[in-house]
Amino acid sequence: MSDILSVIKDRDPGEDEFFQAVKEVIDSVKPVLDKNPEYRKDAVFERLIEPERVITFRVPWKDDHGNVHVNRGFRVQMNSAIGPYKGGLRFHPSVNLSIIKFLAFEQVLKNALTTLSMGGAKGGSDFEPKGKSDAEVMRFCKSFMYELYRHIGPSTDIPEGDIGVGLREIGYLYGAYRKLTNEFTGVLTGKGLSWGGSLIRQQAPGYGLVYFASEMLSTRNDGLEGKTCLISGSGNVAQFTAEKLQGMGARVLTLSDSSGYIYDEKGLDSEKLIYIKHLKNVRRGRIAEYTEKYPHAVYSETDPEIDYNPLWEQWADCAFPCATQNEIKEKDAYNLINHGVKLLCEGADMPCTPEAVNIFLDKRILYAPGKASNAGGVAVSGLEMAQNSMRLNWTAEEIEERLRKIMKEIHQTCLEAAEQYGEPGNYLAGANIAGFVRVVNAMLDQGLV
Ligand code: NAP
Repeated sequence: MSDILSVIKDRDPGEDEFFQAVKEVIDSVKPVLDKNPEYRKDAVFERLIEPERVITFRVPWKDDHGNVHVNRGFRVQMNSAIGPYKGGLRFHPSVNLSIIKFLAFEQVLKNALTTLSMGGAKGGSDFEPKGKSDAEVMRFCKSFMYELYRHIGPSTDIPEGDIGVGLREIGYLYGAYRKLTNEFTGVLTGKGLSWGGSLIRQQAPGYGLVYFASEMLSTRNDGLEGKTCLISGSGNVAQFTAEKLQGMGARVLTLSDSSGYIYDEKGLDSEKLIYIKHLKNVRRGRIAEYTEKYPHAVYSETDPEIDYNPLWEQWADCAFPCATQNEIKEKDAYNLINHGVKLLCEGADMPCTPEAVNIFLDKRILYAPGKASNAGGVAVSGLEMAQNSMRLNWTAEEIEERLRKIMKEIHQTCLEAAEQYGEPGNYLAGANIAGFVRVVNAMLDQGLV
């Protein structure tokens, strides 16, 4: 398998995040390949890591002062063996091909775990929506869709949100798509409720994450009631993780953004969560402002000079990284364990470095990889696609019940796959193996394409 890794290094130099994501999966699925020689003979892993299609494009747009800017757009259509391409769009200055490829690769396995018919893709741009006016964001989204529309479709590729792409951006993108194609179809998910969206889609990654954590704790005859929790990020995933944790009787102590984090010893209650949603989603403010409203809380600014995040040094029982990739490094992992954390459930995609993951596995805390624990978002996107096809809307209760059932099944699938390949209790191995087997079996059935 080291051959595959050296091929990636030679072929895709500098794609560090993609390499990291592939290496993690290779390490997990080696026993599966050893047991199933046909997988090696048919080069399934080599095929899995080569995107079916990579699209990059120019996105020119004008700011409010008449200045022209040029950003780069991406869509990596990684694998469609089990369904149309499906995965988010990320707008963030850090976006590059390596990040989009790693996210697309993770998405293939994540979508397979949901058991819904969805292949994997990811896209986005190095555009920074923060600090832009609504009119600027709209012009950018239109320009982005002028190219993307020809590559997507309700049975081809169905994008959704991710970092920097929320309801506002999905609205502008959908409007542009509709204008260009003269069609009202379910081509994006995460849409507004009055124009084809699904109830619970916004809540889904966070709620699903908490359901998954609850399942993990139940394997140790434990539950979330009374647990203290650390959350990073304050966007979509973080907000609804906090909301569901609070609803299940846990105490959420922290939230963050890229500028710093807040620590509220009393915990976030419903009123504080309403304030945060308004602050982040409507006013588009910074998390530091929380302490103006709640002066008993403490705000600490991010210090670029230190190589760890003090948020993870706070005493707590559970941790939910919900910001971005590689936010938990080796030192953070030790800090978490030394400050009482017994469960870490990833809300973001690949938020822990390989060194941090090895520490969690070594110390045998309950650790769940994002491709399993945050799959609730894309699962409800799958339900949004089903509702769009039928032109019907299910109730919130119905969707949340389906979400809860899907998370329970993913949890069980991970445990069974890990057990089958000699890694009992290892959710990382279980998620990688179960997702991999489902996709490569479909690829083998469909021949060399
Ligand atoms: P979001 O609403 O845009 O929020 C992202 C949050 O993370 C913000 O608080 C942001 O702070 C912070 N953040 C972003 N980059 C950061 C960095 N480099 N350092 C520190 N903080 C950073 O995005 P989201 O939808 O919640 O997504 C968060 C994570 O969950 C991503 O990894 C995403 O792939 C994953 N995910 C999302 C979904 C979904 O449906 N939305 C589903 C599954 C997984 P600033 O405002 O300062 O940038």
